[in-house]
Amino acid sequence: MDSHTVLFGVIGDPIRHSRSPIMLNRAFRESGINGAYAAFHVTPDTLEKAIAGVRALGFRGLNVTIPHKVEVMAYLDEISDGAKAAGAVNTIVNDNGRLIGYNTDGIGYVRSLKEEAEPNLSGQTIVVLGAGGAARGIVWALAQENPAAILIANRTEAKAVELAASFSPDDRIAAIPWSGLREACSSADVVINTTSVGMSPNIGDLPLDPSWLKPGSVASDLIYNPLKTAFLQQAEQLGCRVHGGLGMFIYQGAYAFEYWTGQPAPVDAMRSVVLESFGK
Ligand code: NAP
Repeated sequence: MDSHTVLFGVIGDPIRHSRSPIMLNRAFRESGINGAYAAFHVTPDTLEKAIAGVRALGFRGLNVTIPHKVEVMAYLDEISDGAKAAGAVNTIVNDNGRLIGYNTDGIGYVRSLKEEAEPNLSGQTIVVLGAGGAARGIVWALAQENPAAILIANRTEAKAVELAASFSPDDRIAAIPWSGLREACSSADVVINTTSVGMSPNIGDLPLDPSWLKPGSVASDLIYNPLKTAFLQQAEQLGCRVHGGLGMFIYQGAYAFEYWTGQPAPVDAMRSVVLESFGK
């Protein structure tokens, strides 16, 4: 670091578990960019001041994580279409003092799904389990891939109905009742768990019965702790192709890196340093 170092960071509450600093600092080093990325513990009552600090100190970019992804939008100058559709911002670019908010979670997920499991989503039937914050951006990004249908099921059905309705008049996107999941999964090409069911420490829990999926279809899980959830392990044994959540984390960071620097992200190096941090 020297007096030309360009600054980046991530804000959240809590934040000390974040693997973004090791991933992005490795990316800067790998790409020969004089940048530095740190984690900042910002509580909701100091969010506005933190964003003012980004402007005052001339940070080039910021990632935003729980619980600030929605509230931060009020302090930015511009919001991208994808972030508007997702209703949340996870990446800020400081363009000569103008703060622009993006959402790279959904597009990061889809890039990872295409590179790691299913390159062509066009014409496919996709079941999305869950209707929380992550599901919203993912459904928007999936819809850009021209699927035949995106069927959303959620424990609290009203949230699935609301999420599907927010894409109206796109009638490829519909809510289905939890009781209709078995039938929907039996003819789906891709089934995605966006709920937190199966996340550490409850690693034995299943979001749905993997035997409902058709062999050869893709079972995908947003969870990356553990790297392969019980849902994915069992789906794999039943002949499904499986896709874990680590790729989403890597590619949401890769898109952020690319928006900030204009250079392709060194994805392999980013993945390997994150895997190392898991002791793999
Ligand atoms: P969120 O907004 O809190 O939504 C949680 C979702 O899980 C809701 O749909 C909720 O249903 C459902 N759910 C929770 N417990 C359930 C249960 N026992 N049975 C059935 N459904 C249940 O959380 P989020 O931000 O969307 O995150 C969801 C998951 O995605 C988390 O595991 C998170 O770690 C993961 N994630 C991964 C990445 C990545 O980079 N790989 C990024 C973001 C999130 P109700 O509406 O009925 O409560």
